[in-house]
Amino acid sequence: MPDKAIPIPGSFRELAELLMSLDNLLVSCMRCGLCQAVCPVYGSTMREADVTRGKIALLENLAHEIIKDPVSVNDRLNRCLLCGSCQSNCPSGVNIMEIFIKARSFVAGYLGLGVIKRLIFRHLLPHPRLFNLATSLSGIFQKPFISRVNKSIGTYRAAILKPFLGERHIPSFPDKSFTARHGTIDKPAGKSGLKVALFPGCVPDKLFDRLSEATLKVLDYHGVGVFTPKDLVCCGIPSLASGDSKGFLRLTSQNLKELGQKQFDYLVTPCATCAANIKENWPRFMDNYSAAEKEAVAALTPKTMDITQFLVSVLKVEFKPAEPAEGAATVTYHDSCHLKKSLGVAAQPRSIIKSLPNYRLVEMPEADRCCGNGGSFNLFHYDLSKDIGKRKRDNIVSVRPDIVATGCPACLMQLMDMLSQSGDQIPVKHVIEMYADSLPGLAA
Ligand code: SF4
Ligand code: SF4
Repeated sequence: MPDKAIPIPGSFRELAELLMSLDNLLVSCMRCGLCQAVCPVYGSTMREADVTRGKIALLENLAHEIIKDPVSVNDRLNRCLLCGSCQSNCPSGVNIMEIFIKARSFVAGYLGLGVIKRLIFRHLLPHPRLFNLATSLSGIFQKPFISRVNKSIGTYRAAILKPFLGERHIPSFPDKSFTARHGTIDKPAGKSGLKVALFPGCVPDKLFDRLSEATLKVLDYHGVGVFTPKDLVCCGIPSLASGDSKGFLRLTSQNLKELGQKQFDYLVTPCATCAANIKENWPRFMDNYSAAEKEAVAALTPKTMDITQFLVSVLKVEFKPAEPAEGAATVTYHDSCHLKKSLGVAAQPRSIIKSLPNYRLVEMPEADRCCGNGGSFNLFHYDLSKDIGKRKRDNIVSVRPDIVATGCPACLMQLMDMLSQSGDQIPVKHVIEMYADSLPGLAA
Protein backbone atom coordinates (compact mmCIF):
# COMPACT_ATOMS: atom_id res chain seq x y z
CA MET A 1 0.00 0.00 0.00
CA PRO A 2 1.14 3.59 -0.55
CA ASP A 3 3.07 5.00 2.38
CA LYS A 4 1.59 8.45 2.02
CA ALA A 5 -2.01 9.19 1.11
CA ILE A 6 -3.02 11.82 -1.46
CA PRO A 7 -3.95 14.88 0.58
CA ILE A 8 -7.65 14.80 1.33
CA PRO A 9 -8.99 18.03 2.77
CA GLY A 10 -10.68 17.68 6.15
CA SER A 11 -11.80 21.28 6.31
CA PHE A 12 -12.62 24.11 3.98
CA ARG A 13 -9.32 25.80 4.88
CA GLU A 14 -7.34 22.68 3.87
CA LEU A 15 -9.33 22.45 0.64
CA ALA A 16 -8.50 26.08 -0.18
CA GLU A 17 -4.79 25.42 0.51
CA LEU A 18 -4.76 22.36 -1.74
CA LEU A 19 -6.50 24.22 -4.53
CA MET A 20 -3.94 27.00 -4.25
CA SER A 21 -1.31 24.34 -4.96
CA LEU A 22 -2.80 24.14 -8.47
CA ASP A 23 -1.95 27.82 -9.10
CA ASN A 24 1.40 26.98 -10.67
CA LEU A 25 -0.38 24.87 -13.24
CA LEU A 26 -3.06 27.49 -13.89
CA VAL A 27 -0.79 30.49 -14.52
CA SER A 28 0.27 29.43 -18.01
CA CYS A 29 -3.32 29.70 -19.34
CA MET A 30 -3.48 32.91 -21.39
CA ARG A 31 -7.25 32.73 -21.98
CA CYS A 32 -6.83 32.41 -25.73
CA GLY A 33 -9.91 30.20 -26.02
CA LEU A 34 -8.36 27.80 -28.55
CA CYS A 35 -9.52 24.93 -26.37
CA GLN A 36 -13.10 26.01 -27.01
CA ALA A 37 -13.24 24.94 -30.64
CA VAL A 38 -12.29 21.35 -29.85
CA CYS A 39 -14.24 20.79 -26.64
CA PRO A 40 -17.10 18.37 -27.34
CA VAL A 41 -19.03 19.48 -24.25
CA TYR A 42 -18.86 23.14 -25.27
CA GLY A 43 -19.78 22.11 -28.83
CA SER A 44 -22.96 20.65 -27.42
CA THR A 45 -23.95 23.19 -24.73
CA MET A 46 -22.24 26.37 -26.02
CA ARG A 47 -21.78 27.37 -22.37
CA GLU A 48 -18.48 29.05 -21.45
CA ALA A 49 -18.61 27.33 -18.04
CA ASP A 50 -18.30 23.96 -19.80
CA VAL A 51 -15.11 24.68 -21.70
CA THR A 52 -11.58 24.42 -20.25
CA ARG A 53 -11.19 28.18 -19.95
CA GLY A 54 -14.45 28.37 -17.99
CA LYS A 55 -13.35 25.58 -15.69
CA ILE A 56 -9.99 27.24 -15.11
CA ALA A 57 -11.83 30.47 -14.22
CA LEU A 58 -13.95 28.41 -11.85
CA LEU A 59 -10.85 26.97 -10.18
CA GLU A 60 -9.35 30.43 -9.73
CA ASN A 61 -12.48 31.56 -7.88
CA LEU A 62 -13.03 28.24 -6.25
CA ALA A 63 -12.59 29.30 -2.65
CA HIS A 64 -15.41 31.81 -3.16
CA GLU A 65 -17.58 29.52 -5.29
CA ILE A 66 -17.27 26.53 -3.01
CA ILE A 67 -18.60 28.45 -0.02
CA LYS A 68 -21.65 29.36 -2.07
CA ASP A 69 -22.40 25.90 -3.47
CA PRO A 70 -19.86 23.03 -3.19
CA VAL A 71 -22.10 20.49 -4.92
CA SER A 72 -22.59 22.67 -7.97
CA VAL A 73 -18.81 23.26 -8.18
CA ASN A 74 -18.30 19.49 -8.15
CA ASP A 75 -20.93 19.07 -10.84
CA ARG A 76 -19.31 21.71 -13.05
CA LEU A 77 -15.92 20.04 -12.71
CA ASN A 78 -17.51 16.73 -13.65
CA ARG A 79 -19.12 18.11 -16.82
CA CYS A 80 -15.98 17.10 -18.69
CA LEU A 81 -15.11 13.92 -20.58
CA LEU A 82 -11.40 14.08 -19.65
CA CYS A 83 -10.93 13.48 -23.38
CA GLY A 84 -7.76 15.60 -23.55
CA SER A 85 -8.84 17.39 -26.75
CA CYS A 86 -8.26 20.77 -25.07
CA GLN A 87 -4.80 19.83 -23.81
CA SER A 88 -3.66 18.53 -27.18
CA ASN A 89 -4.80 21.81 -28.77
CA CYS A 90 -3.43 24.22 -26.14
CA PRO A 91 -0.62 26.46 -27.48
CA SER A 92 0.63 27.23 -23.94
CA GLY A 93 1.05 23.59 -22.98
CA VAL A 94 -1.25 23.96 -19.97
CA ASN A 95 -1.34 20.63 -18.14
CA ILE A 96 -5.11 20.63 -18.18
CA MET A 97 -5.66 16.96 -17.35
CA GLU A 98 -3.48 17.24 -14.25
CA ILE A 99 -5.41 20.32 -13.11
CA PHE A 100 -8.81 18.69 -13.64
CA ILE A 101 -7.87 15.37 -12.06
CA LYS A 102 -6.31 16.95 -8.99
CA ALA A 103 -9.16 19.44 -8.57
CA ARG A 104 -11.71 16.61 -8.74
CA SER A 105 -9.72 14.65 -6.21
CA PHE A 106 -9.50 17.59 -3.78
CA VAL A 107 -13.16 18.58 -4.10
CA ALA A 108 -14.50 15.00 -3.96
CA GLY A 109 -12.19 14.33 -0.99
CA TYR A 110 -13.77 17.31 0.79
CA LEU A 111 -17.37 16.43 -0.14
CA GLY A 112 -17.00 12.65 0.30
CA LEU A 113 -18.02 9.84 -2.06
CA GLY A 114 -21.66 8.85 -2.58
CA VAL A 115 -22.79 5.41 -1.36
CA ILE A 116 -22.96 3.78 -4.81
CA LYS A 117 -19.53 5.03 -5.88
CA ARG A 118 -18.05 3.96 -2.55
CA LEU A 119 -19.51 0.46 -2.97
CA ILE A 120 -18.20 0.12 -6.52
CA PHE A 121 -14.78 1.73 -6.12
CA ARG A 122 -13.89 0.43 -2.66
CA HIS A 123 -15.76 -2.89 -2.41
CA LEU A 124 -16.23 -4.28 -5.93
CA LEU A 125 -13.35 -3.17 -8.16
CA PRO A 126 -10.54 -4.20 -5.76
CA HIS A 127 -11.97 -7.73 -5.44
CA PRO A 128 -11.44 -9.55 -8.77
CA ARG A 129 -13.21 -12.76 -7.70
CA LEU A 130 -16.28 -10.89 -6.48
CA PHE A 131 -16.30 -8.74 -9.62
CA ASN A 132 -15.98 -11.84 -11.82
CA LEU A 133 -18.77 -13.55 -9.88
CA ALA A 134 -21.05 -10.52 -10.29
CA THR A 135 -20.46 -10.36 -14.04
CA SER A 136 -20.79 -14.15 -14.47
CA LEU A 137 -24.12 -14.09 -12.63
CA SER A 138 -25.21 -11.21 -14.87
CA GLY A 139 -24.20 -13.29 -17.90
CA ILE A 140 -26.17 -16.31 -16.71
CA PHE A 141 -29.30 -14.58 -15.44
CA GLN A 142 -29.58 -11.67 -17.87
CA LYS A 143 -31.51 -13.55 -20.57
CA PRO A 144 -35.08 -13.09 -19.24
CA PHE A 145 -34.43 -9.40 -18.61
CA ILE A 146 -32.93 -8.25 -21.89
CA SER A 147 -34.39 -8.12 -25.38
CA ARG A 148 -32.38 -7.84 -28.55
CA VAL A 149 -32.90 -4.58 -30.41
CA ASN A 150 -30.28 -4.67 -33.17
CA LYS A 151 -28.94 -7.95 -34.49
CA SER A 152 -26.21 -6.44 -36.71
CA ILE A 153 -24.75 -4.42 -33.85
CA GLY A 154 -25.49 -6.95 -31.10
CA THR A 155 -27.36 -4.61 -28.76
CA TYR A 156 -30.09 -5.21 -26.20
CA ARG A 157 -32.54 -3.21 -24.13
CA ALA A 158 -33.08 -4.03 -20.46
CA ALA A 159 -36.54 -2.68 -19.55
CA ILE A 160 -36.17 -3.71 -15.91
CA LEU A 161 -32.98 -1.64 -15.61
CA LYS A 162 -34.51 1.44 -17.20
CA PRO A 163 -34.25 3.48 -13.95
CA PHE A 164 -30.43 2.95 -14.12
CA LEU A 165 -29.74 2.57 -17.83
CA GLY A 166 -32.38 4.84 -19.36
CA GLU A 167 -32.86 4.19 -23.08
CA ARG A 168 -29.35 2.84 -23.61
CA HIS A 169 -28.82 0.00 -26.07
CA ILE A 170 -26.25 -2.24 -24.42
CA PRO A 171 -24.20 -5.35 -25.26
CA SER A 172 -24.85 -8.55 -23.28
CA PHE A 173 -22.44 -10.10 -20.77
CA PRO A 174 -20.58 -13.30 -21.71
CA ASP A 175 -21.09 -16.28 -19.38
CA LYS A 176 -17.52 -15.97 -18.16
CA SER A 177 -14.98 -13.17 -18.18
CA PHE A 178 -11.65 -13.62 -19.96
CA THR A 179 -9.73 -13.94 -16.67
CA ALA A 180 -12.29 -16.35 -15.17
CA ARG A 181 -12.02 -18.52 -18.31
CA HIS A 182 -8.22 -18.61 -18.46
CA GLY A 183 -7.06 -18.12 -14.87
CA THR A 184 -3.46 -16.94 -14.75
CA ILE A 185 -1.85 -17.06 -18.20
CA ASP A 186 1.89 -17.61 -18.26
CA LYS A 187 3.23 -18.55 -21.68
CA PRO A 188 6.94 -18.34 -22.51
CA ALA A 189 8.30 -16.15 -25.30
CA GLY A 190 8.12 -17.78 -28.72
CA LYS A 191 9.85 -16.87 -31.98
CA SER A 192 9.73 -13.13 -31.25
CA GLY A 193 11.84 -13.57 -28.11
CA LEU A 194 9.51 -11.17 -26.29
CA LYS A 195 7.09 -11.66 -23.44
CA VAL A 196 4.34 -9.18 -22.58
CA ALA A 197 1.96 -8.62 -19.71
CA LEU A 198 -1.49 -8.59 -21.30
CA PHE A 199 -3.64 -6.18 -19.29
CA PRO A 200 -7.22 -6.83 -20.41
CA GLY A 201 -8.87 -3.96 -18.52
CA CYS A 202 -12.37 -4.34 -17.05
CA VAL A 203 -14.40 -3.91 -20.24
CA PRO A 204 -12.36 -6.26 -22.51
CA ASP A 205 -12.24 -8.72 -19.62
CA LYS A 206 -15.83 -8.78 -18.45
CA LEU A 207 -17.96 -7.44 -21.31
CA PHE A 208 -16.08 -7.55 -24.62
CA ASP A 209 -14.02 -10.64 -23.74
CA ARG A 210 -13.65 -11.26 -27.47
CA LEU A 211 -11.15 -8.35 -27.59
CA SER A 212 -8.90 -10.01 -25.02
CA GLU A 213 -9.24 -13.34 -26.85
CA ALA A 214 -8.31 -11.63 -30.11
CA THR A 215 -5.29 -9.98 -28.49
CA LEU A 216 -4.16 -13.32 -27.07
CA LYS A 217 -4.58 -14.97 -30.46
CA VAL A 218 -2.54 -12.26 -32.21
CA LEU A 219 0.25 -12.45 -29.61
CA ASP A 220 0.33 -16.24 -29.95
CA TYR A 221 0.47 -15.98 -33.72
CA HIS A 222 3.50 -13.69 -33.54
CA GLY A 223 5.30 -15.89 -31.01
CA VAL A 224 5.00 -13.44 -28.11
CA GLY A 225 4.90 -14.88 -24.59
CA VAL A 226 2.02 -13.70 -22.38
CA PHE A 227 1.63 -13.13 -18.68
CA THR A 228 -1.82 -12.23 -17.31
CA PRO A 229 -2.26 -12.71 -13.57
CA LYS A 230 -5.85 -13.74 -12.84
CA ASP A 231 -6.19 -11.24 -9.99
CA LEU A 232 -5.45 -8.09 -11.96
CA VAL A 233 -7.96 -5.38 -11.10
CA CYS A 234 -9.36 -2.27 -12.76
CA CYS A 235 -6.70 0.23 -13.92
CA GLY A 236 -8.36 2.79 -11.64
CA ILE A 237 -9.62 5.35 -14.14
CA PRO A 238 -13.28 5.24 -12.97
CA SER A 239 -12.18 5.96 -9.39
CA LEU A 240 -9.83 8.73 -10.45
CA ALA A 241 -12.38 10.37 -12.74
CA SER A 242 -14.75 10.52 -9.76
CA GLY A 243 -12.08 12.07 -7.56
CA ASP A 244 -11.57 8.93 -5.46
CA SER A 245 -7.80 9.06 -5.30
CA LYS A 246 -7.68 6.67 -2.33
CA GLY A 247 -9.59 4.02 -4.31
CA PHE A 248 -7.36 4.70 -7.33
CA LEU A 249 -4.17 4.20 -5.30
CA ARG A 250 -5.48 0.98 -3.82
CA LEU A 251 -6.14 -0.45 -7.31
CA THR A 252 -2.77 0.73 -8.61
CA SER A 253 -0.97 -0.92 -5.68
CA GLN A 254 -2.84 -4.15 -6.22
CA ASN A 255 -2.03 -4.22 -9.93
CA LEU A 256 1.64 -3.49 -9.26
CA LYS A 257 1.75 -6.41 -6.84
CA GLU A 258 0.15 -8.77 -9.38
CA LEU A 259 2.34 -7.62 -12.26
CA GLY A 260 5.46 -7.80 -10.09
CA GLN A 261 5.24 -11.60 -9.93
CA LYS A 262 6.93 -12.12 -13.31
CA GLN A 263 9.35 -10.47 -15.70
CA PHE A 264 8.02 -9.13 -19.00
CA ASP A 265 9.27 -6.82 -21.73
CA TYR A 266 6.12 -4.74 -22.37
CA LEU A 267 2.64 -4.25 -20.99
CA VAL A 268 0.05 -4.30 -23.78
CA THR A 269 -3.70 -3.86 -23.76
CA PRO A 270 -6.58 -3.63 -26.24
CA CYS A 271 -7.99 -0.81 -24.07
CA ALA A 272 -6.71 2.64 -25.04
CA THR A 273 -8.12 4.12 -21.83
CA CYS A 274 -6.21 1.63 -19.64
CA ALA A 275 -2.98 2.26 -21.57
CA ALA A 276 -3.35 6.05 -21.27
CA ASN A 277 -4.26 5.80 -17.59
CA ILE A 278 -1.28 3.58 -16.75
CA LYS A 279 1.12 5.79 -18.70
CA GLU A 280 -0.18 9.17 -17.59
CA ASN A 281 -2.01 8.83 -14.29
CA TRP A 282 -0.13 6.11 -12.45
CA PRO A 283 3.04 8.28 -12.46
CA ARG A 284 1.02 11.45 -11.72
CA PHE A 285 0.66 10.34 -8.10
CA MET A 286 4.28 9.20 -7.66
CA ASP A 287 4.63 10.90 -4.25
CA ASN A 288 2.01 8.57 -2.85
CA TYR A 289 3.72 5.26 -3.55
CA SER A 290 6.18 3.21 -1.49
CA ALA A 291 9.78 3.15 -2.74
CA ALA A 292 9.26 -0.25 -4.39
CA GLU A 293 6.06 0.95 -6.09
CA LYS A 294 7.77 4.11 -7.35
CA GLU A 295 10.43 1.95 -8.96
CA ALA A 296 7.82 -0.36 -10.47
CA VAL A 297 5.77 2.53 -11.92
CA ALA A 298 8.87 4.20 -13.36
CA ALA A 299 9.84 0.93 -15.06
CA LEU A 300 6.32 0.16 -16.29
CA THR A 301 5.34 3.51 -17.80
CA PRO A 302 7.66 3.55 -20.83
CA LYS A 303 6.86 -0.05 -21.73
CA THR A 304 3.06 0.27 -21.57
CA MET A 305 1.29 0.47 -24.90
CA ASP A 306 -1.75 -0.20 -27.01
CA ILE A 307 -1.68 -3.55 -28.81
CA THR A 308 -1.66 -2.02 -32.33
CA GLN A 309 1.26 0.21 -31.35
CA PHE A 310 3.11 -2.86 -30.03
CA LEU A 311 2.55 -4.78 -33.27
CA VAL A 312 3.62 -1.97 -35.56
CA SER A 313 6.22 -0.05 -33.58
CA VAL A 314 7.87 -2.76 -31.43
CA LEU A 315 7.29 -6.07 -33.17
CA LYS A 316 7.74 -4.39 -36.57
CA VAL A 317 5.09 -6.53 -38.19
CA GLU A 318 5.00 -5.45 -41.83
CA PHE A 319 1.47 -4.36 -42.55
CA LYS A 320 1.74 -3.81 -46.29
CA PRO A 321 -1.23 -2.00 -47.89
CA ALA A 322 -3.38 -4.57 -49.71
CA GLU A 323 -5.61 -4.04 -52.72
CA PRO A 324 -9.19 -4.46 -51.40
CA ALA A 325 -10.67 -7.74 -52.63
CA GLU A 326 -13.84 -7.80 -54.68
CA GLY A 327 -16.78 -7.27 -52.34
CA ALA A 328 -14.51 -5.92 -49.58
CA ALA A 329 -16.45 -4.32 -46.73
CA THR A 330 -16.18 -0.57 -46.37
CA VAL A 331 -14.83 0.36 -42.96
CA THR A 332 -14.46 3.75 -41.35
CA TYR A 333 -12.21 4.33 -38.35
CA HIS A 334 -13.00 6.37 -35.22
CA ASP A 335 -9.95 7.71 -33.34
CA SER A 336 -10.39 7.14 -29.62
CA CYS A 337 -9.31 10.26 -27.71
CA HIS A 338 -7.13 8.25 -25.36
CA LEU A 339 -5.50 6.45 -28.26
CA LYS A 340 -4.79 9.44 -30.48
CA LYS A 341 -4.57 12.43 -28.13
CA SER A 342 -3.01 10.72 -25.11
CA LEU A 343 -0.88 8.01 -26.73
CA GLY A 344 -0.32 9.50 -30.20
CA VAL A 345 -1.53 6.30 -31.88
CA ALA A 346 -3.45 6.98 -35.10
CA ALA A 347 -1.39 5.62 -38.01
CA GLN A 348 -0.85 2.12 -36.57
CA PRO A 349 -4.48 0.93 -36.48
CA ARG A 350 -5.06 2.41 -39.93
CA SER A 351 -2.05 0.58 -41.35
CA ILE A 352 -3.44 -2.69 -39.97
CA ILE A 353 -6.85 -2.09 -41.55
CA LYS A 354 -5.28 -1.15 -44.89
CA SER A 355 -3.33 -4.42 -44.91
CA LEU A 356 -6.54 -6.49 -44.73
CA PRO A 357 -7.86 -7.24 -48.23
CA ASN A 358 -11.38 -7.84 -46.91
CA TYR A 359 -11.70 -4.17 -45.98
CA ARG A 360 -11.64 -0.84 -47.78
CA LEU A 361 -10.88 2.08 -45.43
CA VAL A 362 -12.90 5.26 -45.94
CA GLU A 363 -12.26 8.22 -43.61
CA MET A 364 -15.25 9.85 -41.93
CA PRO A 365 -15.36 13.61 -41.25
CA GLU A 366 -14.02 14.56 -37.78
CA ALA A 367 -12.65 11.04 -37.22
CA ASP A 368 -10.81 12.23 -34.10
CA ARG A 369 -13.71 14.12 -32.53
CA CYS A 370 -14.73 12.61 -29.18
CA CYS A 371 -17.62 10.12 -29.28
CA GLY A 372 -18.99 11.42 -25.96
CA ASN A 373 -18.56 8.33 -23.81
CA GLY A 374 -16.08 9.52 -21.18
CA GLY A 375 -16.73 6.53 -18.85
CA SER A 376 -18.58 7.84 -15.82
CA PHE A 377 -19.52 10.97 -17.83
CA ASN A 378 -21.84 8.72 -19.85
CA LEU A 379 -23.38 7.38 -16.64
CA PHE A 380 -24.01 10.74 -14.98
CA HIS A 381 -24.56 13.07 -17.97
CA TYR A 382 -26.22 10.76 -20.45
CA ASP A 383 -28.23 13.42 -22.30
CA LEU A 384 -25.06 15.37 -22.99
CA SER A 385 -23.12 12.21 -23.83
CA LYS A 386 -25.84 11.24 -26.28
CA ASP A 387 -25.92 14.66 -27.89
CA ILE A 388 -22.14 14.50 -28.49
CA GLY A 389 -22.49 10.89 -29.69
CA LYS A 390 -25.19 11.87 -32.19
CA ARG A 391 -22.69 14.07 -34.08
CA LYS A 392 -20.28 11.11 -34.23
CA ARG A 393 -23.08 8.86 -35.49
CA ASP A 394 -23.95 11.39 -38.23
CA ASN A 395 -20.30 11.56 -39.29
CA ILE A 396 -20.15 7.77 -39.46
CA VAL A 397 -23.25 7.27 -41.57
CA SER A 398 -22.22 10.11 -43.92
CA VAL A 399 -19.62 7.78 -45.48
CA ARG A 400 -22.02 4.80 -45.64
CA PRO A 401 -19.71 2.18 -44.12
CA ASP A 402 -20.45 -1.51 -43.67
CA ILE A 403 -18.44 -1.51 -40.42
CA VAL A 404 -17.00 1.01 -37.95
CA ALA A 405 -13.64 0.27 -36.38
CA THR A 406 -12.09 1.79 -33.28
CA GLY A 407 -9.37 1.08 -30.71
CA CYS A 408 -11.08 1.60 -27.37
CA PRO A 409 -13.80 -0.53 -25.76
CA ALA A 410 -15.47 2.55 -24.19
CA CYS A 411 -15.85 4.12 -27.66
CA LEU A 412 -17.07 0.76 -28.94
CA MET A 413 -19.88 0.77 -26.38
CA GLN A 414 -20.86 4.36 -27.16
CA LEU A 415 -20.81 3.85 -30.95
CA MET A 416 -22.92 0.69 -30.60
CA ASP A 417 -25.46 2.59 -28.50
CA MET A 418 -25.62 5.63 -30.80
CA LEU A 419 -25.89 3.63 -34.03
CA SER A 420 -28.33 1.13 -32.57
CA GLN A 421 -30.64 3.83 -31.20
CA SER A 422 -30.71 5.42 -34.66
CA GLY A 423 -31.69 2.09 -36.22
CA ASP A 424 -28.47 1.80 -38.24
CA GLN A 425 -27.25 -1.68 -39.18
CA ILE A 426 -23.52 -1.00 -38.83
CA PRO A 427 -21.48 -3.38 -36.63
CA VAL A 428 -18.69 -1.85 -34.52
CA LYS A 429 -15.37 -3.67 -34.19
CA HIS A 430 -12.03 -3.21 -32.50
CA VAL A 431 -9.12 -3.24 -34.95
CA ILE A 432 -7.46 -6.12 -33.09
CA GLU A 433 -10.45 -8.42 -33.66
CA MET A 434 -10.46 -7.55 -37.36
CA TYR A 435 -6.80 -8.50 -37.53
CA ALA A 436 -7.27 -11.65 -35.41
CA ASP A 437 -10.12 -12.78 -37.68
CA SER A 438 -7.76 -12.58 -40.67
CA LEU A 439 -5.25 -14.99 -39.06
CA PRO A 440 -5.39 -18.78 -39.12
CA GLY A 441 -7.02 -20.16 -35.94
CA LEU A 442 -4.53 -20.62 -33.11
CA ALA A 443 -5.28 -19.86 -29.50
CA ALA A 444 -8.77 -18.34 -29.60
S1 SF4 B 1 -6.08 26.74 -25.13
FE1 SF4 B 1 -4.76 26.61 -23.30
S2 SF4 B 1 -4.03 28.72 -22.97
FE2 SF4 B 1 -5.80 28.86 -24.36
S3 SF4 B 1 -7.57 29.18 -22.96
FE3 SF4 B 1 -7.43 26.96 -23.32
S4 SF4 B 1 -6.18 26.22 -21.60
FE4 SF4 B 1 -5.86 28.45 -21.68
S1 SF4 C 1 -11.09 17.34 -21.46
FE1 SF4 C 1 -12.48 17.31 -23.26
S2 SF4 C 1 -14.54 17.68 -22.42
FE2 SF4 C 1 -13.05 18.29 -20.81
S3 SF4 C 1 -12.77 20.50 -21.10
FE3 SF4 C 1 -11.14 19.46 -22.28
S4 SF4 C 1 -11.99 19.23 -24.37
FE4 SF4 C 1 -13.72 19.71 -22.98
